[in-house]
Amino acid sequence: MFHIVKLQPGDSPREFASLGLKLKRKRKQDCILQPCPAHLESRCSIYDARPIRCRIFECRQLQRVATGEISEAGAQEKIIEATGLVAEVNQLLFRKGGSNIRLPLSKRCETAMAEPLHPTSDEASVRDRTRLERVMQKLNALLDQEFRIETAEPL
Ligand code: SF4
Repeated sequence: MFHIVKLQPGDSPREFASLGLKLKRKRKQDCILQPCPAHLESRCSIYDARPIRCRIFECRQLQRVATGEISEAGAQEKIIEATGLVAEVNQLLFRKGGSNIRLPLSKRCETAMAEPLHPTSDEASVRDRTRLERVMQKLNALLDQEFRIETAEPL
């Protein structure tokens, strides 16, 4: 959903680095780069030690469950839909010859889409490219509508 998580006063960059998180200082601001290596099997593997922003962030699904607008099962369906689209994007990227999985998915897609199609590209490659664009659009629309929240500043 995001490319970075900004660290807050009280967060310890050194501690996060020792836990294997990837840190970067951008415009005098310490950040954790995404995708986060602590995200394993759909869970935060350092939950008790996670950064402050991760503690306070509530996606739309969590907010809707909290207010009773939707059920946990409904939220679970949206999560399954999103992870299914992510899996499809990954599959298409790997079919194109793989990409650096340490980079955010949207950046990897941008790179793949920016590659010119070879005049000798077969029909399947052209189809995959069109499909990649469509699935990524669908995923972004789903994330915007169902997960991301508007914040005054980037997370
Ligand atoms: S909640 Fe955990 S897995 Fe997610 S970004 Fe924060 S530290 Fe990483």
